[in-house]
Amino acid sequence: MKKRVLLLMSIFLLIGSLSQAAIPEPKAYNDPSLIYLTLDDGPNWKTGKLLDVLKKHQVKATFFILGKNIKGNEHLIRRIVAEGHLIALHGMTHEREEFYASPMTAVRQMKDVQRLIYEVTGIHTNMARTIYGSDAGMTPAHWQAMDEAGFAIWDWNVGSLDHIYKKDNASVEQRVFNRLEANRVANIASIILAHDHSMTPEALDTIIRYAKERDYEFRTLEGIQTPHNFSDGWEPYVSDSATP
Ligand SMILES: [Zn+2]
Repeated sequence: MKKRVLLLMSIFLLIGSLSQAAIPEPKAYNDPSLIYLTLDDGPNWKTGKLLDVLKKHQVKATFFILGKNIKGNEHLIRRIVAEGHLIALHGMTHEREEFYASPMTAVRQMKDVQRLIYEVTGIHTNMARTIYGSDAGMTPAHWQAMDEAGFAIWDWNVGSLDHIYKKDNASVEQRVFNRLEANRVANIASIILAHDHSMTPEALDTIIRYAKERDYEFRTLEGIQTPHNFSDGWEPYVSDSATP
């Protein structure tokens, strides 16, 4: 009987140590091997093609949705959620003067898109990106109002410049590769900014293959308690913060 108990105990200990060995250390949110792909300004007619590429590579992204683009594209919003991507907020109109006119106009736009997304998906999110990035018009009063309204504001540190290069895939890709490398040297994770209206499926496909070949891991921004802003340590270059 005693032998049996000892045998059982040693089996439990063995299983315990095996399962411990099988669980890798969780990576810090800003681990340099992590990429957070973010897609802004959608949904629009191109969103489905980008979703196809993400699906092919089993990559999950974060979509910062523009409120004015929701009507008529509800199926795309639902598809984004159904395929495991993260849905987030990008205001209503993308008009700089309207959005940043006062702290309350900015909060109002975020609340409006928040409500629309809730109506379509049942998801209530407070994750947000202000148009053209936070340094385009966020005063201390804006920050305070957003904070009090419960919004977590995210910027980026890899501007793909897809909205400038458009179909010039080689330039978009090279820009992203250079910035990924700079972030790896700076020992920080990468948050790529791309746009539903500008990133081509071909460039997205190339960028994902490039990253996977170099052992990057793609994640959504879900669950990260410390939103990245241009002013903090995730950002190696100041110059990128001026890009929309
Ligand atoms: Zn935008």
